[in-house]
Amino acid sequence: MEVRELWQKMLDELEISVSALGFDTLVETTFPVSILNGKLILCTKTEVSRNLVQKRFYSQIKEAMQMVFPMLDDVEIITEDQKDLYSTEDDEQISPSQEIEIEESVFIKKYTFDNFVVGKSNEFVAAAAKAVSEAPGKKFNPLFIYGGVGLGKTHILHAIGNFINTNQPKLKTLYVSCEKFTNELIEAIRDTKNPSDAKKAFRQKYRSCDVLMIDDIQFISKTDATQEELFHTFNDLYNAEKQIIISSDRPPKEIQHLEDRLRTRFAWGMIADIKPPDLETRIAILQKKSRQQNANISDEILQVIAQNVQTNIRDMEGLLTRVISYASLINHTEIDMNIVNEALRDYTDDQKEMISVDTIIDAVTEYFNIDRKALVGKKKNKEIVEPRQICIYLITEFLTLPLVKIGEIFGGRDHTTILHARNKIEEQSKSDGRIGVYVKDLKDMILKK
Ligand code: ADP
Ligand code: MG
Repeated sequence: MEVRELWQKMLDELEISVSALGFDTLVETTFPVSILNGKLILCTKTEVSRNLVQKRFYSQIKEAMQMVFPMLDDVEIITEDQKDLYSTEDDEQISPSQEIEIEESVFIKKYTFDNFVVGKSNEFVAAAAKAVSEAPGKKFNPLFIYGGVGLGKTHILHAIGNFINTNQPKLKTLYVSCEKFTNELIEAIRDTKNPSDAKKAFRQKYRSCDVLMIDDIQFISKTDATQEELFHTFNDLYNAEKQIIISSDRPPKEIQHLEDRLRTRFAWGMIADIKPPDLETRIAILQKKSRQQNANISDEILQVIAQNVQTNIRDMEGLLTRVISYASLINHTEIDMNIVNEALRDYTDDQKEMISVDTIIDAVTEYFNIDRKALVGKKKNKEIVEPRQICIYLITEFLTLPLVKIGEIFGGRDHTTILHARNKIEEQSKSDGRIGVYVKDLKDMILKK
């Protein structure tokens, strides 16, 4: 993998983990130089932006790097005038085989039990997760965790992984998103050169672990092959007393297209739900996060932030980061109410955007005369794909939604698919006359609505 490609993949991760403001800052100011002695060298134009990036985003950048390529040890951020010292003729190449082997068992370091604030809304889940970590396969099997977006499901799964890796390093832990599980299976089935080998490798991987975690199972594909494979994976692991942990945004009975035999199995062990945290817990979470970012913010101010975001902890963290970035952009060491108001104003503006996803979808379906179901669905014919990609592009132009969210709107598509659609239309609306006209017409239409 080339360094530029590595950075591109990291940006995909960073887009999710940092606030929108932060992400724009990163894309504008920072670019990759080389990989030297196991270190990724990034460069910014000025000393000021170097300091900002170092102070605000270093840990997220490092985390993204470790997700994409865990063999690298560290990140160094330099300024442009030092660049020559750090560039190499031939950057250390990252071999694809290394990449595949290690990518799975990496857990995000800061997603630990220690960093997980426990309150009434999540104490049950936290206790069940802890019990499972201490005796995998022995207590609650499977453990099924469900709760709304941004309430800490992925955090908990990683915490279990980190705990087991530290305390029982011999156990093989495997974390996978449901989407990835499905994609790998489809690839294995499609491998026409060596169909049986590919399937064997897939089974070997998923049935040989001691702990299997599947995140966001609600995205399970309804194809028989996927459900069948999941069923057998489940049985094999379960019978061997290996721990299975599953997360979902809803309880088993509400997951569409789930075969009954899987639905019942998911309920064999323990089902634990995470609810939105109360104010007190939200403040405690903010205290923890601001300490992690070395920001000095008074409790009164944290309370104001906590009061303004009521359900989604990811959004609440985003707002906190925004407050901290604001303060640092204008060189305020002390964070006062003015800064918070400023950041909040942006946040609430985002919330009540006049143009909504629906406005955009309505305009696109009207313009191309297709129905909404087809637009957000799975059909792949050109008459639908093109309007769909245009619609995705327009959503990214008008709204500040995370790519994963947009993926959810379009039938659970991957954020990279969304990114691809956006980039493609952006490019084509410049060069291809026809697409350019569509985009312009639609923008006018949306603004008039
Ligand atoms: P989900 O997978 O449920 O959508 P995540 O696990 O990605 O949510 O959590 C979103 C963000 O909120 C993460 O940064 C996570 O660390 C944070 N978070 C959620 N719950 C807690 C908690 N109880 N304590 C500390 N941080 C939390
Ligand atoms: Mg998650």
